[in-house]
This record gives sequence, structure tokens and C-alpha cells, in this order.
Amino acid sequence: MRCSNCGLCCEETEMELSIRDVDALEKTGYRREKFSVTGEDGITRLRNVDGRCFFYDHAEKRCRVYEVRPIGCSTYPVVYSADGEVVIDELCPMGGTVSDQELMEKGRILLELIKTIEDEGAGKHSGFQLDKKKPQ
Ligand code: SF4
Repeated sequence: MRCSNCGLCCEETEMELSIRDVDALEKTGYRREKFSVTGEDGITRLRNVDGRCFFYDHAEKRCRVYEVRPIGCSTYPVVYSADGEVVIDELCPMGGTVSDQELMEKGRILLELIKTIEDEGAGKHSGFQLDKKKPQ
């Protein structure tokens, strides 16, 4: 697909993060307490600042961590609908440039991600904690 860098997908984000996403983002030097929040449901999500994702650079209109952005951001505009279907988000003005093959491939990755995040969230609920090293 083509991206017009409109930044709409980074507005009021509720992007869910896997442990792997959080680890990859921390390796860039940011601390998880700054860029994420974990809800009562045990799911960790990107944090917003001034109405956009913590990582969105307002001046440059770009993602500061594009190369290691969360898996859910890389599969966008392919999303999981409230009805439980893999669809193209109507919000994305470039959604029409997603090919059928891309929709299928990103949909597969997205479903795997959702399963991983659900399993990890359930782990947190049951008191399971990973010993994580924080960056200096
Ligand atoms: S991580 Fe990057 S691509 Fe994902 S919502 Fe934040 S600014 Fe946008």
C-alpha cells in the first residue's frame, strides 16, 4: 500500500502492545513507563500525549520509531473489527491501495498478534511476571 503520512492512525491511539513490541521499543532508549500504559484488563497500550501517540513527532509529522514500530502499527490499516473480522480501517485515506494479498498476509500477522497479546494479558492477570531489565 501507499502511505500519505496523514498521521490519522497515530491519533488517540489504542494500539495494543505485545511483550516483544515493548522490548523492541525500549531498546531504542525509551522507557516503557513513558510510552505505554497497562489497563485493568492486563493489556498494555501505547500512551497518547496531546492527542497523539507518544512516539508521533508533531513537527516532522512522522513516527519516531518507525523502523521498530509495534506490529499492530505495521499491519495498519488492516485491523480487527468489533465483529471479529479482519478489515481495512475506513479511517485510512489510502486504504484503497491495500492489495488482496497484503490484506491476507497482514490479517494473518494481526490474528497471531491478537492471540499473543491475549495470552500475555491473561498471564499478567494470573500474577505471572517476567523479570525485565530496564534501560539505564
Ligand atoms: S508507534 Fe509510530 S506508527 Fe505506531 S501509533 Fe505511534 S507514532 Fe504511529
